[in-house]
Amino acid sequence: MTSAPADRGDLARFPDDWETALAIVAHPDDLEYGAAGAIASWTAAGKKVAYLLATRGEAGIASMAPEEAANLREAEQVASAAIVGVTSVEFLDHPDGLIEYGLPLRRDFTAAIRRHRPDLVVTFNHHETWPGPRWNTPDHRNVGRAALDAVADAGNRHLHTDIGPAPWEGVRYAAVAGSPSATHAVDITGTLDTAIASLEAHRAYLDGLGSGNWMADARGLLTAMAQSAGERYGGRPATAFEVILC
Ligand SMILES: [Zn+2]
Repeated sequence: MTSAPADRGDLARFPDDWETALAIVAHPDDLEYGAAGAIASWTAAGKKVAYLLATRGEAGIASMAPEEAANLREAEQVASAAIVGVTSVEFLDHPDGLIEYGLPLRRDFTAAIRRHRPDLVVTFNHHETWPGPRWNTPDHRNVGRAALDAVADAGNRHLHTDIGPAPWEGVRYAAVAGSPSATHAVDITGTLDTAIASLEAHRAYLDGLGSGNWMADARGLLTAMAQSAGERYGGRPATAFEVILC
């Protein structure tokens, strides 16, 4: 498999002219596998970031009953967020593994965008494939697309008129982590270790993957991802995003 040449050009510097971000993803751990190093650098610079999780991650640990896993994974996500300076973490209760794209999902995200009034919306890969390519999951595709669509919904005063507090047209950028079409990067030289610690906070999840699973090696995986992005960003450890103007 080869990447398209257009995907291998240098990454641009991530926009800095924003103050408030809302990150909308499907599962506990999604942000830690794709964006936490960047988020840590943003909060260290005084920017405000909040997390919205579409699920509680109840179907993510094969050896654990869903309700037990949901409670544990919620707690791990809150701890993980705190490590990168994020204290606002909300969970919707869409069904893990079975999230459908549709108006209920867009409506929930619209409500969150109108409440948080972010300049930047961060989400996780909405494309059919990961870089590589490997096939993506329906939860990520559906949540990513609904989050991007909800940016416009939130600004349209004629949609979801019962959801307050008021329409919000202020989202300037959307940033997609884990995208096969990355365009921009954030230097995470100073926050890579923090990002690794935030993924390692998902202890029960990582243990559930088994020690031989490459996804369970937080340090190895995040270091490799940072180096891979860095090859297109001046050799510095980096987190790559697809940035979309809103
Ligand atoms: Zn996920």
